[in-house]
Amino acid sequence: MSEPSRTDPPQPNQSQRLLFEGGSPGRTAFSWPDKTPAVSESIPETYLRQDIPDFPELGELELLRHFTRLSQRNYAIESQFYPLGSCTMKYNPKINEVVARYPGFSLVHPLAPPALNQGALELLFGLEQMLAEISGMDDVSHQPSAGAQGELTGLMLIRAYLSAQGNPRKKIIVPDTAHGTNPASSTLCGYDVVQVSSNEQGVIAAAAVADAMDDDVAALMITNPNTLGIFEKNIEAVAEVVHDKGGLVYLDGANLNALMGIAKPGHMGVDVLHMNLHKTFSTPHGGGGPGAGPVGVKTFLRDFLPTPRIVKTANGYELIEDMPASIGRVRSFFGNFGVLVRAYAYILSLGGDGLEETSRMALLNANYIRSKLERHYQLAYTEPCMHECVFNDRNQHRNGVSTLDIAKRLLDYGFHPPTIYFPLVVSGALMIEPTETETPETLDQFIEAMIAIAQESRETPDLVKNAPHTTPVRRLDEAKAARKPVLRWERPEVER
Ligand SMILES: *Cc1c(COP(=O)(O)O)cnc(C)c1O
Repeated sequence: MSEPSRTDPPQPNQSQRLLFEGGSPGRTAFSWPDKTPAVSESIPETYLRQDIPDFPELGELELLRHFTRLSQRNYAIESQFYPLGSCTMKYNPKINEVVARYPGFSLVHPLAPPALNQGALELLFGLEQMLAEISGMDDVSHQPSAGAQGELTGLMLIRAYLSAQGNPRKKIIVPDTAHGTNPASSTLCGYDVVQVSSNEQGVIAAAAVADAMDDDVAALMITNPNTLGIFEKNIEAVAEVVHDKGGLVYLDGANLNALMGIAKPGHMGVDVLHMNLHKTFSTPHGGGGPGAGPVGVKTFLRDFLPTPRIVKTANGYELIEDMPASIGRVRSFFGNFGVLVRAYAYILSLGGDGLEETSRMALLNANYIRSKLERHYQLAYTEPCMHECVFNDRNQHRNGVSTLDIAKRLLDYGFHPPTIYFPLVVSGALMIEPTETETPETLDQFIEAMIAIAQESRETPDLVKNAPHTTPVRRLDEAKAARKPVLRWERPEVER
């Protein structure tokens, strides 16, 4: 790759304007037929606004072009490779969108009685069973709307179970490689967090957990594969240490895309887990969009699950509300139903073999990138990786180039950067998750860009340190950009 691909400069006189600067008084994108009664007739006077300060008055086409242009500035999985580690930015097949929009699903009313909702309930029940099968758990609840809410729900189940035994206990053990949501959920659930360190192989050793384990520990939260992309091979021994002292094992299953059809957390001593449907099971996400973080449990925790539970009877599907030990609802209705429909369609369209191949391809792609880049970037750990690989910036640092500079320079090459500076145990981390949906050609283009940046870091480090050079805005003061965003786009001087 000789030349970074350049972002086409927007056309003159289209780009600079904000909505508030365009238009003209009286111009409108929309007009009512004369005979339509004014809306104001049905709304009491006191609720009617006389005037909206600075309201932009624009024609339909101006408005349309404005938003179309903005949408084209977005970086999306449907336009480019998105190797954002830990986030699983893979392609979400369009068939899932088609199915989620079927009127029978999209218009179904969540308060309709079960007799009128049998199809939706069948789907929810079926998805619970499929997710239980994939994860090796006995029961699943779809209520949590995200991974983090799944964590909180799982910890509430653990607290409810231990309380029923007489003592909710006080602490949760969390490895130093954990996603930030793990300690946050523990704290929100009223527990103190005890951190254990991973070893030189990037995994947790049973001895480290044994040192931290006592009668006050309610649970260990472990992520497998962990956020270094490494399989926690000691998980069974670790689970035994926790169980021996009466604690439970919680698995952060956000990375289930590395395990499907290959290994089941339920066979590794895990008592509770959550899954990220919007990552592994293909719902568009990012920007805080809708997610689903179902929890799976072993049978002994079944009675504590959120209500209502869906049961299959001789008369069809019914809802059970009366579960005295339940932690109650954790959100309205049945969870994010549209996301659940997408996951159902995704699982059925791939089948068991397809899911296994998905995981195997995710592992293959990550290991391909790992082996192609390891001569250029230092690997944080030498273990083979699962679905993502983590490098650091040590080689580049000799020339004063940091992870942030590498990430910014990737923008000039037209790529979304990987996750940077996470996990925290790796100084200057570059965490790359290619996912299974990318072709070898795409991976090669990314690899070439990364190798070119490694070379630039040696030969022309200032080029990398001052990147990006081709984006609408250059290097920003990130704190200031978040607190005082300047939305007006200034045409950059194009370097020749
Ligand atoms: C994404 C992720 C989470 C959080 O999931 P959300 O749906 O964003 O709340 C938790 N743990 C791990 C390991 C993750 O990758």
